[in-house]
This record gives sequence, structure tokens and C-alpha cells, in this order.
Amino acid sequence: MRVLGDDWLLPALDASNRAWFTSGRLGLQACTRCDGVQFPPEDACRSCGSFELGTRESAGRGRIESVAVVHHPVHPLLRAHVPYAVVLVSLDDAPGVNLVGNVRNRAAGEVAIGERVRVVFEEVRDPETGETLRIPQWEVVP
Ligand SMILES: [Zn+2]
Repeated sequence: MRVLGDDWLLPALDASNRAWFTSGRLGLQACTRCDGVQFPPEDACRSCGSFELGTRESAGRGRIESVAVVHHPVHPLLRAHVPYAVVLVSLDDAPGVNLVGNVRNRAAGEVAIGERVRVVFEEVRDPETGETLRIPQWEVVP
């Protein structure tokens, strides 16, 4: 089940985001010169300016740093899904990297800063392209 429902818009895939939305892994951009990790990906390393960038996979464990509960549907397709929580997660194995997502296994009002989470991937088939997307979301873990 998708957090925001089957009718919610899917990301438009291109060369820069295809792996992120289809691989079922959190592949973060990593600098081969200074070892810095960054997200979202950019043309150069934010720390040292190098263009020598590779990919490092995160294990997808982290901590909720911020929570916003959305009550007002900012788009008509969200009317049936409010309230929902949007969280900012810091990754254990990628200091300085924060990812935004939804929490699947808690009601919006029951999500709290400081809780431990793990990444889960919502699988959905893009009806226009037939491609399977794996959208990163979060689950609270004990
Ligand atoms: Zn660097």
C-alpha cells in the first residue's frame, strides 16, 4: 500500500534520478577524493569541489529529526490522505545527509522526533511507462 495512495503522482524519471527511484536501494553520491557523501546528487562535491563522484549505498537506518503533519490537502489528489506526516530523517551511515519521506506504520499524530526508522520501498508500476518504481519511505522501528 502506498502512503499517499495509488492516484498520487509519480516522479518523472531521468538519467539523474532513475537509480534512486527504481533500484530499491539508497545509493548516495560519494566523493572519491574527500570521502564526503551528499544528497541530492550534484555535479561537484560540496565539500572539496571535486568532480570525481561515485555512489555509496546506505543501510537505510536513521533517526527522525523533524516531523510536519499535513492537514490541508495542497493538491486535490491528497484530499483523501490527510492528515499525513512528512519526516526528515538523518542517516546513521551518512552524516550530514537528511532525507524526506512519509512514515508507513504510524498514524500521522503518532510520529515523534527522535524515533528510530528504517527505509522501506513502496513498489508501484508506472502505468505510462510500465516501469517498476521503488519509492523510499520510512517505518518506525523499536
Ligand atoms: Zn569531496
